[in-house]
Amino acid sequence: MKKVVIIGGGIAGLAAAYSLREHQTPDTPDFEIILLEKNNRLGGNIRTEKTDGFLIEGGPDCFISEKPWAMELCKRIGLGDKILPTNEGGKTYVLSGGKLHILPDGVILMVPTKMLPLATSTLISWAGKIRMASEIFVPKKKGREDETLGQFVRRRLGQEALDKIAEPLVAGVHAGDPETMSVRASFPKFVQLEEEYGSLIKGMIKRMELLKKTHKPQASAGPKKKVTMFMTLKDGLSEMIDTLTTILLKTNTRIEKGVAVTGVTKKNNGYEVALDGGKSIEADAVVIAAPAYAAANVLSRFDADLSQKLLTIPYVSTATVSIAFKKSDVKHPLNGFGFVVPKIEKRRIMAATWTSRKFSFRAPDDTVLIRCFVGGSKNMELVNLSDPEMIKMVKEELRDTMGITAEPVLVKVFRWINSMPQYTVGHEDRIKWIEERLANHPGLYLTGSAYHGIGISDSIRIGEVVAKKILHQLKN
Ligand SMILES: Cc1cc2nc3c(=O)[nH]c(=O)nc-3n(C[C@H](O)[C@H](O)[C@H](O)COP(=O)(O)OP(=O)(O)OC[C@H]3O[C@@H](n4cnc5c(N)ncnc54)[C@H](O)[C@@H]3O)c2cc1C
Repeated sequence: MKKVVIIGGGIAGLAAAYSLREHQTPDTPDFEIILLEKNNRLGGNIRTEKTDGFLIEGGPDCFISEKPWAMELCKRIGLGDKILPTNEGGKTYVLSGGKLHILPDGVILMVPTKMLPLATSTLISWAGKIRMASEIFVPKKKGREDETLGQFVRRRLGQEALDKIAEPLVAGVHAGDPETMSVRASFPKFVQLEEEYGSLIKGMIKRMELLKKTHKPQASAGPKKKVTMFMTLKDGLSEMIDTLTTILLKTNTRIEKGVAVTGVTKKNNGYEVALDGGKSIEADAVVIAAPAYAAANVLSRFDADLSQKLLTIPYVSTATVSIAFKKSDVKHPLNGFGFVVPKIEKRRIMAATWTSRKFSFRAPDDTVLIRCFVGGSKNMELVNLSDPEMIKMVKEELRDTMGITAEPVLVKVFRWINSMPQYTVGHEDRIKWIEERLANHPGLYLTGSAYHGIGISDSIRIGEVVAKKILHQLKN
Protein backbone atom coordinates (compact mmCIF):
# COMPACT_ATOMS: atom_id res chain seq x y z
CA MET A 1 0.00 0.00 0.00
CA LYS A 2 1.21 3.54 -0.77
CA LYS A 3 2.28 5.67 2.18
CA VAL A 4 2.05 9.41 2.79
CA VAL A 5 4.02 10.77 5.73
CA ILE A 6 3.05 14.16 7.14
CA ILE A 7 5.59 15.83 9.43
CA GLY A 8 3.93 18.21 11.90
CA GLY A 9 0.53 18.00 13.59
CA GLY A 10 -0.42 21.68 13.51
CA ILE A 11 -3.46 22.84 11.58
CA ALA A 12 -1.57 22.74 8.25
CA GLY A 13 -0.58 19.07 8.68
CA LEU A 14 -4.02 18.02 9.91
CA ALA A 15 -5.80 19.96 7.16
CA ALA A 16 -3.58 18.31 4.54
CA ALA A 17 -4.34 14.86 5.98
CA TYR A 18 -8.07 15.55 6.12
CA SER A 19 -8.08 16.93 2.59
CA LEU A 20 -6.31 13.78 1.32
CA ARG A 21 -9.16 11.69 2.70
CA GLU A 22 -11.85 14.14 1.64
CA HIS A 23 -10.74 14.29 -1.98
CA GLN A 24 -9.70 10.68 -2.53
CA THR A 25 -11.88 9.03 -5.15
CA PRO A 26 -12.61 5.35 -5.93
CA ASP A 27 -9.85 5.39 -8.55
CA THR A 28 -7.20 6.62 -6.06
CA PRO A 29 -4.91 3.72 -5.10
CA ASP A 30 -5.30 2.77 -1.44
CA PHE A 31 -2.89 4.72 0.77
CA GLU A 32 -1.98 5.02 4.42
CA ILE A 33 -1.33 8.39 6.10
CA ILE A 34 1.19 8.58 8.91
CA LEU A 35 1.21 11.92 10.71
CA LEU A 36 4.19 12.49 12.99
CA GLU A 37 4.15 15.20 15.65
CA LYS A 38 7.17 16.08 17.76
CA ASN A 39 5.17 17.24 20.78
CA ASN A 40 2.88 15.14 22.93
CA ARG A 41 0.01 17.37 21.85
CA LEU A 42 -1.47 18.08 18.42
CA GLY A 43 -2.43 21.57 17.24
CA GLY A 44 0.92 23.37 17.11
CA ASN A 45 0.16 27.02 17.84
CA ILE A 46 -3.53 26.26 18.43
CA ARG A 47 -4.09 25.55 22.09
CA THR A 48 -7.29 26.06 24.07
CA GLU A 49 -7.41 25.53 27.82
CA LYS A 50 -10.48 25.52 30.03
CA THR A 51 -10.13 26.31 33.69
CA ASP A 52 -12.43 27.63 36.47
CA GLY A 53 -15.15 28.64 33.98
CA PHE A 54 -12.67 30.45 31.67
CA LEU A 55 -11.88 29.48 28.10
CA ILE A 56 -8.35 30.57 27.32
CA GLU A 57 -6.75 30.57 23.91
CA GLY A 58 -3.00 30.29 24.34
CA GLY A 59 -2.23 30.98 20.67
CA PRO A 60 -4.67 32.14 17.97
CA ASP A 61 -8.12 33.16 19.17
CA CYS A 62 -9.96 33.55 15.86
CA PHE A 63 -9.82 33.34 12.09
CA ILE A 64 -10.73 36.08 9.65
CA SER A 65 -13.89 35.54 7.65
CA GLU A 66 -12.52 37.33 4.59
CA LYS A 67 -10.31 34.27 4.07
CA PRO A 68 -13.03 31.59 4.03
CA TRP A 69 -10.98 28.38 4.27
CA ALA A 70 -11.12 27.97 8.07
CA MET A 71 -14.87 28.56 8.26
CA GLU A 72 -15.49 26.24 5.32
CA LEU A 73 -13.39 23.49 6.89
CA CYS A 74 -15.24 23.88 10.20
CA LYS A 75 -18.55 23.45 8.38
CA ARG A 76 -17.35 20.39 6.49
CA ILE A 77 -16.20 18.65 9.68
CA GLY A 78 -19.50 19.27 11.45
CA LEU A 79 -18.59 22.35 13.49
CA GLY A 80 -20.81 24.76 11.54
CA ASP A 81 -23.12 25.30 14.54
CA LYS A 82 -20.15 26.04 16.77
CA ILE A 83 -18.85 28.95 14.70
CA LEU A 84 -19.10 32.09 16.81
CA PRO A 85 -19.05 35.71 15.62
CA THR A 86 -17.68 38.57 17.68
CA ASN A 87 -20.06 40.53 19.90
CA GLU A 88 -21.46 43.93 18.89
CA GLY A 89 -19.45 47.11 19.36
CA GLY A 90 -16.08 46.12 17.99
CA LYS A 91 -14.20 49.36 18.37
CA THR A 92 -10.43 49.15 18.45
CA TYR A 93 -8.35 51.58 20.48
CA VAL A 94 -4.83 52.79 19.87
CA LEU A 95 -2.57 53.91 22.69
CA SER A 96 -1.16 57.32 21.86
CA GLY A 97 0.49 59.78 24.23
CA GLY A 98 -0.32 57.33 27.04
CA LYS A 99 -4.10 57.49 26.38
CA LEU A 100 -6.47 55.18 24.53
CA HIS A 101 -7.93 56.74 21.35
CA ILE A 102 -10.61 55.16 19.17
CA LEU A 103 -9.36 54.01 15.79
CA PRO A 104 -11.49 56.21 13.51
CA ASP A 105 -14.58 54.46 12.16
CA GLY A 106 -14.09 53.48 8.51
CA VAL A 107 -10.36 52.80 8.81
CA ILE A 108 -10.02 49.38 7.22
CA LEU A 109 -6.69 47.78 8.05
CA MET A 110 -4.97 51.15 7.70
CA VAL A 111 -6.93 52.81 4.92
CA PRO A 112 -9.43 55.56 5.80
CA THR A 113 -12.70 55.06 3.91
CA LYS A 114 -14.80 57.64 5.80
CA MET A 115 -13.52 61.18 6.02
CA LEU A 116 -15.74 62.56 8.85
CA PRO A 117 -14.58 60.09 11.54
CA LEU A 118 -11.00 60.69 10.40
CA ALA A 119 -11.49 64.46 10.65
CA THR A 120 -12.86 64.23 14.22
CA SER A 121 -10.35 61.62 15.41
CA THR A 122 -8.24 62.42 18.46
CA LEU A 123 -5.64 59.86 17.38
CA ILE A 124 -4.14 61.63 14.37
CA SER A 125 -2.91 65.25 14.22
CA TRP A 126 -4.37 67.65 11.64
CA ALA A 127 -1.21 67.45 9.58
CA GLY A 128 -1.42 63.66 9.70
CA LYS A 129 -5.11 63.67 8.69
CA ILE A 130 -4.45 65.91 5.69
CA ARG A 131 -1.54 63.72 4.67
CA MET A 132 -3.68 60.57 4.92
CA ALA A 133 -6.58 62.09 2.98
CA SER A 134 -4.25 63.29 0.22
CA GLU A 135 -3.32 59.66 -0.49
CA ILE A 136 -5.72 59.85 -3.43
CA PHE A 137 -3.29 62.24 -5.17
CA VAL A 138 -0.12 60.21 -4.55
CA PRO A 139 1.04 58.74 -7.88
CA LYS A 140 1.31 54.99 -8.05
CA LYS A 141 4.71 53.34 -7.83
CA LYS A 142 6.43 52.46 -11.06
CA GLY A 143 7.72 48.91 -11.45
CA ARG A 144 7.02 45.77 -9.46
CA GLU A 145 10.01 45.88 -7.12
CA ASP A 146 9.22 44.80 -3.57
CA GLU A 147 9.37 47.37 -0.76
CA THR A 148 8.95 47.26 3.00
CA LEU A 149 5.58 47.91 4.61
CA GLY A 150 7.19 50.98 6.19
CA GLN A 151 8.28 52.42 2.84
CA PHE A 152 4.90 51.67 1.30
CA VAL A 153 2.82 53.30 4.06
CA ARG A 154 5.11 56.34 4.38
CA ARG A 155 4.91 56.85 0.62
CA ARG A 156 1.14 56.53 0.38
CA LEU A 157 -0.30 57.65 3.75
CA GLY A 158 2.54 59.36 5.61
CA GLN A 159 4.67 58.76 8.70
CA GLU A 160 1.92 59.31 11.26
CA ALA A 161 -0.36 56.69 9.65
CA LEU A 162 2.60 54.31 9.78
CA ASP A 163 3.46 55.03 13.41
CA LYS A 164 -0.04 55.08 14.85
CA ILE A 165 -2.05 52.73 12.64
CA ALA A 166 -0.10 50.51 10.24
CA GLU A 167 2.72 49.57 12.59
CA PRO A 168 0.62 48.51 15.60
CA LEU A 169 -2.38 47.19 13.70
CA VAL A 170 -1.11 45.75 10.46
CA ALA A 171 2.45 44.78 11.35
CA GLY A 172 1.05 43.63 14.69
CA VAL A 173 -0.73 40.70 13.01
CA HIS A 174 2.70 39.33 12.08
CA ALA A 175 4.35 40.57 15.30
CA GLY A 176 6.70 42.03 12.71
CA ASP A 177 8.82 45.06 11.97
CA PRO A 178 7.33 47.21 9.16
CA GLU A 179 10.87 48.29 8.18
CA THR A 180 11.75 44.73 7.14
CA MET A 181 8.38 43.21 6.17
CA SER A 182 7.64 42.75 2.49
CA VAL A 183 4.46 44.59 1.55
CA ARG A 184 3.99 42.36 -1.50
CA ALA A 185 4.16 39.11 0.46
CA SER A 186 2.51 40.24 3.70
CA PHE A 187 -0.24 42.50 2.35
CA PRO A 188 -0.70 41.77 -1.35
CA LYS A 189 -4.16 43.37 -1.17
CA PHE A 190 -2.65 46.83 -0.59
CA VAL A 191 -0.34 46.42 -3.57
CA GLN A 192 -3.25 45.28 -5.76
CA LEU A 193 -5.33 48.30 -4.71
CA GLU A 194 -2.51 50.65 -5.65
CA GLU A 195 -1.87 48.88 -8.95
CA GLU A 196 -5.54 48.65 -9.91
CA TYR A 197 -6.97 51.97 -8.66
CA GLY A 198 -3.89 54.16 -8.23
CA SER A 199 -4.96 54.81 -4.62
CA LEU A 200 -5.73 52.70 -1.54
CA ILE A 201 -8.59 54.97 -0.48
CA LYS A 202 -10.25 55.01 -3.90
CA GLY A 203 -9.71 51.27 -4.33
CA MET A 204 -11.05 50.34 -0.91
CA ILE A 205 -14.20 52.47 -1.40
CA LYS A 206 -14.78 51.03 -4.88
CA ARG A 207 -14.35 47.47 -3.61
CA MET A 208 -16.80 48.09 -0.75
CA GLU A 209 -19.38 49.43 -3.20
CA LEU A 210 -18.91 46.39 -5.41
CA LEU A 211 -19.26 44.06 -2.43
CA LYS A 212 -22.53 45.74 -1.42
CA LYS A 213 -23.91 45.33 -4.94
CA THR A 214 -22.94 41.66 -5.21
CA HIS A 215 -24.11 40.74 -1.69
CA LYS A 216 -27.72 41.98 -1.81
CA PRO A 217 -29.81 40.00 0.75
CA GLN A 218 -32.09 37.48 -0.95
CA ALA A 219 -35.70 37.29 0.20
CA SER A 220 -35.75 33.48 0.13
CA ALA A 221 -32.38 32.94 1.78
CA GLY A 222 -33.92 32.28 5.24
CA PRO A 223 -32.23 33.15 8.55
CA LYS A 224 -28.50 33.61 8.04
CA LYS A 225 -25.78 33.20 10.63
CA LYS A 226 -24.05 36.43 11.45
CA VAL A 227 -20.60 36.73 9.90
CA THR A 228 -18.21 39.21 11.47
CA MET A 229 -14.65 40.08 10.45
CA PHE A 230 -13.25 37.76 13.13
CA MET A 231 -14.86 34.39 13.87
CA THR A 232 -14.05 31.65 16.35
CA LEU A 233 -15.48 28.42 17.75
CA LYS A 234 -17.73 28.48 20.80
CA ASP A 235 -15.64 25.85 22.60
CA GLY A 236 -12.30 27.18 21.40
CA LEU A 237 -10.14 26.61 18.36
CA SER A 238 -8.76 23.32 19.72
CA GLU A 239 -12.12 21.79 18.86
CA MET A 240 -11.09 22.03 15.22
CA ILE A 241 -7.92 20.05 16.02
CA ASP A 242 -9.78 17.45 18.13
CA THR A 243 -12.50 16.96 15.51
CA LEU A 244 -10.02 16.59 12.66
CA THR A 245 -8.06 14.06 14.74
CA THR A 246 -11.17 12.02 15.55
CA ILE A 247 -12.23 11.93 11.90
CA LEU A 248 -8.73 11.00 10.68
CA LEU A 249 -8.37 8.17 13.18
CA LYS A 250 -11.48 6.57 11.68
CA THR A 251 -9.75 6.42 8.28
CA ASN A 252 -6.55 4.57 7.49
CA THR A 253 -4.48 7.22 9.32
CA ARG A 254 -1.87 6.70 12.01
CA ILE A 255 -1.17 9.68 14.24
CA GLU A 256 1.97 9.48 16.34
CA LYS A 257 2.67 12.09 19.00
CA GLY A 258 6.01 12.62 20.71
CA VAL A 259 7.86 11.51 17.55
CA ALA A 260 10.30 14.01 16.05
CA VAL A 261 11.52 13.57 12.49
CA THR A 262 15.28 14.05 12.19
CA GLY A 263 15.83 13.65 8.46
CA VAL A 264 14.29 12.99 5.08
CA THR A 265 16.38 11.39 2.32
CA LYS A 266 15.70 9.85 -1.07
CA LYS A 267 15.14 6.09 -1.17
CA ASN A 268 14.17 4.06 -4.25
CA ASN A 269 11.31 5.97 -5.90
CA GLY A 270 10.27 7.62 -2.66
CA TYR A 271 11.74 8.89 0.61
CA GLU A 272 13.06 7.60 3.88
CA VAL A 273 11.89 9.50 6.94
CA ALA A 274 14.26 9.12 9.90
CA LEU A 275 12.81 9.38 13.38
CA ASP A 276 14.37 10.44 16.63
CA GLY A 277 15.38 7.17 18.31
CA GLY A 278 16.73 5.50 15.18
CA LYS A 279 13.65 4.07 13.43
CA SER A 280 12.65 5.09 9.92
CA ILE A 281 9.63 4.96 7.63
CA GLU A 282 9.60 4.63 3.85
CA ALA A 283 7.08 6.81 2.07
CA ASP A 284 5.83 7.55 -1.44
CA ALA A 285 5.07 11.15 -0.53
CA VAL A 286 6.31 13.35 2.31
CA VAL A 287 4.66 16.58 3.46
CA ILE A 288 6.69 18.80 5.76
CA ALA A 289 4.13 20.83 7.72
CA ALA A 290 6.59 22.05 10.33
CA PRO A 291 8.09 25.58 10.56
CA ALA A 292 10.58 26.48 7.79
CA TYR A 293 13.61 26.19 10.10
CA ALA A 294 12.44 22.70 11.15
CA ALA A 295 12.01 21.76 7.47
CA ALA A 296 15.55 23.08 6.88
CA ASN A 297 16.88 20.88 9.63
CA VAL A 298 15.11 17.78 8.32
CA LEU A 299 16.34 18.39 4.75
CA SER A 300 19.92 19.44 5.56
CA ARG A 301 21.54 16.17 4.44
CA PHE A 302 19.25 15.67 1.46
CA ASP A 303 19.43 19.11 -0.20
CA ALA A 304 21.77 21.54 1.54
CA ASP A 305 20.90 24.48 -0.74
CA LEU A 306 17.17 24.06 -0.17
CA SER A 307 17.83 23.76 3.54
CA GLN A 308 19.89 26.99 3.52
CA LYS A 309 17.17 28.83 1.63
CA LEU A 310 14.52 27.70 4.12
CA LEU A 311 16.67 29.12 6.90
CA THR A 312 16.40 32.58 5.33
CA ILE A 313 12.74 32.77 6.43
CA PRO A 314 13.12 34.36 9.87
CA TYR A 315 10.81 33.76 12.83
CA VAL A 316 9.99 35.82 15.91
CA SER A 317 8.86 34.74 19.36
CA THR A 318 5.83 35.99 21.26
CA ALA A 319 3.96 35.29 24.47
CA THR A 320 0.33 35.72 25.44
CA VAL A 321 -0.71 36.51 28.96
CA SER A 322 -4.39 35.91 29.73
CA ILE A 323 -5.35 37.73 32.90
CA ALA A 324 -8.75 37.88 34.55
CA PHE A 325 -10.16 40.30 37.11
CA LYS A 326 -13.38 40.59 39.05
CA LYS A 327 -15.72 42.76 36.97
CA SER A 328 -16.28 45.05 39.97
CA ASP A 329 -12.51 45.72 40.09
CA VAL A 330 -12.32 47.06 36.53
CA LYS A 331 -13.55 50.63 36.21
CA HIS A 332 -12.74 50.84 32.51
CA PRO A 333 -15.95 50.53 30.39
CA LEU A 334 -14.32 48.01 27.98
CA ASN A 335 -16.39 49.46 25.15
CA GLY A 336 -14.51 47.73 22.34
CA PHE A 337 -12.41 44.67 21.60
CA GLY A 338 -9.15 46.01 22.96
CA PHE A 339 -6.20 48.18 22.04
CA VAL A 340 -2.95 48.11 20.12
CA VAL A 341 0.26 49.77 21.22
CA PRO A 342 2.46 51.61 18.70
CA LYS A 343 6.20 51.06 19.03
CA ILE A 344 6.70 54.81 19.51
CA GLU A 345 4.84 54.54 22.84
CA LYS A 346 7.81 52.50 24.15
CA ARG A 347 5.66 50.17 26.26
CA ARG A 348 6.18 46.50 27.06
CA ILE A 349 3.01 44.98 25.56
CA MET A 350 2.10 44.97 21.83
CA ALA A 351 -1.66 44.79 22.28
CA ALA A 352 -4.43 43.74 24.64
CA THR A 353 -7.64 42.00 23.62
CA TRP A 354 -10.69 42.44 25.85
CA THR A 355 -11.46 38.79 25.29
CA SER A 356 -14.62 38.45 27.38
CA ARG A 357 -16.05 41.47 25.57
CA LYS A 358 -14.97 40.34 22.09
CA PHE A 359 -16.43 36.81 22.30
CA SER A 360 -19.16 35.26 24.45
CA PHE A 361 -18.56 32.08 26.48
CA ARG A 362 -15.01 33.07 27.47
CA ALA A 363 -15.32 33.97 31.17
CA PRO A 364 -17.78 33.79 34.10
CA ASP A 365 -20.26 36.73 34.06
CA ASP A 366 -18.78 38.46 37.09
CA THR A 367 -15.26 38.57 35.61
CA VAL A 368 -13.33 40.24 32.81
CA LEU A 369 -10.76 38.34 30.73
CA ILE A 370 -7.98 40.31 29.00
CA ARG A 371 -5.25 38.84 26.79
CA CYS A 372 -1.98 40.73 26.41
CA PHE A 373 0.62 40.15 23.69
CA VAL A 374 4.29 40.32 24.60
CA GLY A 375 7.44 40.15 22.45
CA GLY A 376 7.40 40.04 18.66
CA SER A 377 10.02 41.93 16.70
CA LYS A 378 9.55 44.98 18.98
CA ASN A 379 10.53 43.42 22.28
CA MET A 380 11.55 39.83 21.68
CA GLU A 381 13.74 39.60 24.80
CA LEU A 382 10.65 40.05 27.01
CA VAL A 383 9.46 36.55 26.03
CA ASN A 384 12.34 35.21 28.15
CA LEU A 385 11.09 36.81 31.37
CA SER A 386 10.11 34.31 34.06
CA ASP A 387 6.37 33.88 34.66
CA PRO A 388 6.35 36.06 37.82
CA GLU A 389 8.35 38.81 36.02
CA MET A 390 6.08 38.70 32.99
CA ILE A 391 2.90 38.81 35.08
CA LYS A 392 4.27 41.73 37.11
CA MET A 393 5.09 43.57 33.89
CA VAL A 394 1.65 42.94 32.37
CA LYS A 395 -0.07 44.14 35.57
CA GLU A 396 1.99 47.35 35.47
CA GLU A 397 1.11 47.89 31.79
CA LEU A 398 -2.62 47.39 32.46
CA ARG A 399 -2.41 49.76 35.43
CA ASP A 400 -0.84 52.46 33.27
CA THR A 401 -3.07 51.99 30.21
CA MET A 402 -6.43 50.95 31.68
CA GLY A 403 -6.12 52.00 35.32
CA ILE A 404 -6.50 48.44 36.66
CA THR A 405 -4.84 48.13 40.07
CA ALA A 406 -6.67 45.09 41.47
CA GLU A 407 -5.14 41.65 41.89
CA PRO A 408 -6.13 39.23 39.10
CA VAL A 409 -8.24 36.16 39.84
CA LEU A 410 -6.46 34.10 37.18
CA VAL A 411 -3.31 34.42 35.03
CA LYS A 412 -2.03 32.09 32.29
CA VAL A 413 1.21 32.62 30.35
CA PHE A 414 1.91 30.91 27.02
CA ARG A 415 5.25 31.33 25.24
CA TRP A 416 5.52 30.84 21.50
CA ILE A 417 9.21 30.54 20.68
CA ASN A 418 10.09 31.07 16.99
CA SER A 419 6.44 30.72 16.13
CA MET A 420 5.68 33.63 13.78
CA PRO A 421 7.29 33.51 10.32
CA GLN A 422 8.32 36.87 8.93
CA TYR A 423 7.73 37.64 5.29
CA THR A 424 10.64 40.01 4.81
CA VAL A 425 11.46 41.90 1.59
CA GLY A 426 12.21 39.40 -1.18
CA HIS A 427 9.91 36.73 0.35
CA GLU A 428 8.10 36.09 -2.94
CA ASP A 429 11.39 35.48 -4.78
CA ARG A 430 12.57 33.21 -1.98
CA ILE A 431 9.39 31.12 -2.18
CA LYS A 432 9.61 30.97 -5.96
CA TRP A 433 13.17 29.62 -5.64
CA ILE A 434 12.06 27.05 -3.06
CA GLU A 435 9.17 25.87 -5.23
CA GLU A 436 11.35 25.55 -8.31
CA ARG A 437 13.80 23.53 -6.27
CA LEU A 438 11.05 21.28 -4.92
CA ALA A 439 10.06 20.47 -8.48
CA ASN A 440 13.33 18.46 -8.62
CA HIS A 441 12.06 16.29 -5.75
CA PRO A 442 8.73 14.81 -6.85
CA GLY A 443 6.75 13.53 -3.87
CA LEU A 444 8.22 16.07 -1.44
CA TYR A 445 5.93 18.92 -0.34
CA LEU A 446 6.11 21.88 2.03
CA THR A 447 3.10 23.44 3.72
CA GLY A 448 2.32 25.68 6.69
CA SER A 449 2.35 29.33 7.55
CA ALA A 450 5.91 30.02 6.38
CA TYR A 451 5.14 30.36 2.69
CA HIS A 452 1.87 31.76 1.36
CA GLY A 453 -0.01 33.34 4.27
CA ILE A 454 0.59 33.42 8.00
CA GLY A 455 -2.89 32.79 9.44
CA ILE A 456 -4.97 29.70 10.16
CA SER A 457 -7.09 30.07 7.02
CA ASP A 458 -4.11 30.26 4.69
CA SER A 459 -2.43 27.33 6.47
CA ILE A 460 -5.57 25.28 5.78
CA ARG A 461 -5.73 26.45 2.16
CA ILE A 462 -2.10 25.50 1.43
CA GLY A 463 -2.57 22.13 3.17
CA GLU A 464 -5.49 21.45 0.85
CA VAL A 465 -3.50 22.46 -2.26
CA VAL A 466 -0.74 20.04 -1.27
CA ALA A 467 -3.25 17.23 -0.67
CA LYS A 468 -4.64 17.63 -4.18
CA LYS A 469 -1.12 17.46 -5.65
CA ILE A 470 -0.44 14.25 -3.73
CA LEU A 471 -3.68 12.62 -4.89
CA HIS A 472 -2.69 13.48 -8.44
CA GLN A 473 0.76 11.95 -7.82
CA LEU A 474 -0.70 8.75 -6.35
CA LYS A 475 -2.95 8.23 -9.36
CA ASN A 476 -0.12 8.60 -11.88
C1 LIG B 1 0.40 33.89 19.73
C2 LIG B 1 -0.14 33.63 18.36
C3 LIG B 1 -1.38 34.17 18.01
C4 LIG B 1 -1.89 33.94 16.73
N1 LIG B 1 -3.13 34.43 16.45
C5 LIG B 1 -3.72 34.09 15.27
C6 LIG B 1 -5.10 34.40 15.05
O1 LIG B 1 -5.80 34.95 15.92
N2 LIG B 1 -5.65 34.03 13.85
C7 LIG B 1 -4.92 33.36 12.89
O2 LIG B 1 -5.47 33.05 11.82
N3 LIG B 1 -3.62 33.02 13.10
C8 LIG B 1 -3.02 33.35 14.26
N4 LIG B 1 -1.72 32.95 14.51
C9 LIG B 1 -1.01 32.19 13.47
C10 LIG B 1 -1.46 30.71 13.49
O3 LIG B 1 -1.21 30.19 14.74
C11 LIG B 1 -0.71 29.93 12.41
O4 LIG B 1 -1.04 30.43 11.13
C12 LIG B 1 -1.04 28.44 12.36
O5 LIG B 1 -1.35 27.91 13.61
C13 LIG B 1 0.14 27.74 11.72
O6 LIG B 1 -0.10 26.37 11.65
P1 LIG B 1 1.01 25.37 11.10
O7 LIG B 1 0.41 24.02 11.13
O8 LIG B 1 1.56 25.89 9.84
O9 LIG B 1 2.23 25.48 12.13
P2 LIG B 1 2.36 25.05 13.68
O10 LIG B 1 1.12 25.34 14.42
O11 LIG B 1 3.63 25.69 14.13
O12 LIG B 1 2.55 23.48 13.61
C14 LIG B 1 3.75 22.87 13.22
C15 LIG B 1 3.90 21.57 13.99
O13 LIG B 1 5.07 20.91 13.54
C16 LIG B 1 5.67 20.25 14.64
N5 LIG B 1 7.06 19.93 14.34
C17 LIG B 1 8.11 20.78 14.23
N6 LIG B 1 9.24 20.12 13.94
C18 LIG B 1 8.91 18.81 13.85
C19 LIG B 1 9.65 17.62 13.60
N7 LIG B 1 10.97 17.65 13.35
N8 LIG B 1 9.01 16.43 13.60
C20 LIG B 1 7.66 16.37 13.84
N9 LIG B 1 6.91 17.48 14.11
C21 LIG B 1 7.53 18.68 14.11
C22 LIG B 1 5.50 21.27 15.75
O14 LIG B 1 5.65 20.67 17.03
C23 LIG B 1 4.09 21.78 15.48
O15 LIG B 1 3.11 21.06 16.19
C24 LIG B 1 -1.15 33.18 15.78
C25 LIG B 1 0.10 32.66 16.13
C26 LIG B 1 0.59 32.86 17.41
C27 LIG B 1 1.92 32.27 17.79
